[in-house]
Amino acid sequence: MKLEGMHHITMITGDAQANVAFYAGVLGLRMVKKTVNFDAPEAYHLYFGDEQGSPGSILTWFEFAGAPKGRAGAGMIHTIQLGVSSEAALDFWAERLEAHGYEAWRGERSLKFEDYDGLGLELVVADDGNPPLRAEHPEVPAEHAILGVEGARAYLGRGKHADRQLLTEVLGFEEVGDAHVGEIDYILRGDERHFHWGYDVPRHRALQGAGTVHHIAWHSRDDDHVKWQERVGKAGMHVTPVIDRDYFNAIYFRQPQGILFEIATTSPGFAVDEDAAHLGEQLRLPKQHEHLRPQLEQFLTKLDNPRVSAADQAEAQA
Ligand code: ZN
Repeated sequence: MKLEGMHHITMITGDAQANVAFYAGVLGLRMVKKTVNFDAPEAYHLYFGDEQGSPGSILTWFEFAGAPKGRAGAGMIHTIQLGVSSEAALDFWAERLEAHGYEAWRGERSLKFEDYDGLGLELVVADDGNPPLRAEHPEVPAEHAILGVEGARAYLGRGKHADRQLLTEVLGFEEVGDAHVGEIDYILRGDERHFHWGYDVPRHRALQGAGTVHHIAWHSRDDDHVKWQERVGKAGMHVTPVIDRDYFNAIYFRQPQGILFEIATTSPGFAVDEDAAHLGEQLRLPKQHEHLRPQLEQFLTKLDNPRVSAADQAEAQA
């Protein structure tokens, strides 16, 4: 039994429209689902990823409209690493980000920047084997497109080894030897995808808010999911029952560093309630909230999805 790398990472944003404009507009990901927070349906839950909405490419946001900015601190993920194919792609993104008013810092085979909420992002040259998971965007050439989520780094919430046993013996991560002093690095290898996971010493006090990470979900084969739930429970974690999230099944547990982990299934995926060619274009609601549709359609801010606007424009010109 093996985890297939990362399934999705979920953040908090203070502004759903800015979220769509940045991730679907500037970064050129596809919005693959426009739904609501199942536990608080008056707020959006937006999903972005590759063309198909593949696990491994998915970044999602709960909107807490107007939420003040938070700051990653102890026990929180501070940087999400997105893959690109080459150093030339880093040059492309440095220019594109700057053109949209975002400062970016070039490192060795990487480019660091922050989104509009202050979330830490890093583009990394990803040439160690992950199959590319691309979205299409008219202004982003395919050879420069983002290729999926390569890794994430968090601040230690407790001792460096507080979750080592859970990661290595229960979840199947490998410790990687080349971490710098004060850091600890792991890799999670699935059959198809791997994910780089690492910790740094916290520099700030944690402050939940816009621009912070809510949880990270690892990817389980459908058939293994219940076994993961048992295994994590036996390892002493307080794990939830299996929860139906419509697009996948999920279990959650807070791991010893203080980070909320989820394990999510492959199926049924994002095309379960809308045509794969039109993912993310219409508001989708879970069954239990469908009766709220009239109020929610009134209440939720209308979002301008660049992909839909481009299609409308093309149609108007045809
Ligand atoms: Zn999740």
